[in-house]
Amino acid sequence: MKDVLVIGAGLAGLTCARTLQARGLDCLVLDAADAVGGRVRTDDVDGFRLDRGFQVLLTAYPAARTWLDYDALRLGNFAPGARVMTPDGEGRVSDPWRAPGRMWETLRAPVGTVADKLRVGALRLAATSGRLDAIWERPERCTAEELRARGFSPVMLERFLRPWLGGIFLERELTTSNRMLFFVYRMFAEGYAALPAGGMQRIPEQLAAGLKTDSCRLGATVAGVSGGSSTGGYDVRLASGETLKASQVVIATDGGTAARLVPGLAAPAWRSVTCVQWAAPESPMGGEPVLWLNGTGHGRINNLVVPSDVAADYAPKGSALVSTTVIGECPETDTELVAGLSVELAGRHGTVVKDWRALAVQRIRCALPVLSPGAGAEAARAVREGLWVCGDHCASASIQGAMATGQTVGEAVAAR
Ligand SMILES: Cc1cc2nc3c(=O)[nH]c(=O)nc-3n(C[C@H](O)[C@H](O)[C@H](O)COP(=O)(O)OP(=O)(O)OC[C@H]3O[C@@H](n4cnc5c(N)ncnc54)[C@H](O)[C@@H]3O)c2cc1C
Repeated sequence: MKDVLVIGAGLAGLTCARTLQARGLDCLVLDAADAVGGRVRTDDVDGFRLDRGFQVLLTAYPAARTWLDYDALRLGNFAPGARVMTPDGEGRVSDPWRAPGRMWETLRAPVGTVADKLRVGALRLAATSGRLDAIWERPERCTAEELRARGFSPVMLERFLRPWLGGIFLERELTTSNRMLFFVYRMFAEGYAALPAGGMQRIPEQLAAGLKTDSCRLGATVAGVSGGSSTGGYDVRLASGETLKASQVVIATDGGTAARLVPGLAAPAWRSVTCVQWAAPESPMGGEPVLWLNGTGHGRINNLVVPSDVAADYAPKGSALVSTTVIGECPETDTELVAGLSVELAGRHGTVVKDWRALAVQRIRCALPVLSPGAGAEAARAVREGLWVCGDHCASASIQGAMATGQTVGEAVAAR
């Protein structure tokens, strides 16, 4: 019998297992998938490294700083700020605290008034003051209301804040809690958005590499958990029919699966995203590692990035990887979607797009748990004696949320 079985080898489960092993407990991680990482996976297609959906590591995440070796990940950083396409042409928005040399360019960008840009300073101050964890106790309202109350003009909202935050929250109505707004803004202000060389999956792989040999079993789908600490431990039943025993069990799956395994646990609603990845002969951003936002109010692409401009090994030599994000689900076939986006891209980036080749259409229905005011996450915790739950559905829906809840539960299990 194991001390602890951890169900899920995403960032939460792996961080939990690392914490448990660091405290001397004997634990085994079980995952249904064929590799570690959960929602942080990277596929190799024709020599291109395709993350499953565009995502970034924010280097200021405290849990990531604790657990990850950034040097070994060979992180490439995005330039702070973004290039924004608007009905009045393209502009550049930078963080004046990070890139003071670009202040004039930012003030001139056609994304709002000078007063709006000063309001960004006030928002930055609000996000960066006080303790980070105190953000989760602040009065709550949705992000759109918070931005309106802070006086941002409709132009600033439509051209910059909606595409930027929409790409992070995976929803453009900005109904996500303002606590997420403050959290994300602070993380952007205090560090960089980064990609590891060779893809985001290097992050969970690095965590897994720090586990003892044979402490992670892949292809092991958990079908049920029964028993209890007072009845001699828990039985974890696999879909294969095998049953494993442990004194304690940590459920570190996505929130939907956790709710199926633990009756009474609420299942989260989800944000969805569709990402189309393209092979291009060269970068449409001229090699600059910067996020491109669609602030025109037209078209389906919310944002575009060129991961191969940011970090090594995303594209074979002499080519570029372009990643386009459409928020939500797309009803059309892959062929129709690629054709539609090609026309949109040609309108924005010119005829070079005719040489692009779609490498993958990624439809991610369960990307982020919804975090709206009042429907916030229930903390990582023991749901019964010796039966624990952690994961991003228990905190900020992010890499930080997943890792921090894994660590918290690991410490609590070890202390029991
Ligand atoms: C497209 C996209 C973009 C994102 N962008 C960002 C970003 O830019 N920055 C950021 O910080 N975060 C981002 N995120 C969020 C971040 O990836 C997640 O919050 C985090 O990875 C969640 O980790 P987790 O361990 O809680 O859950 P998961 O990664 O979902 O891990 C759960 C694990 O449980 C396993 N599992 C499920 N059911 C079973 C079962 N029955 N038996 C055994 N195993 C099971 C799964 O295979 C999986 O490995 C993004 C997510 C997506 C999808």
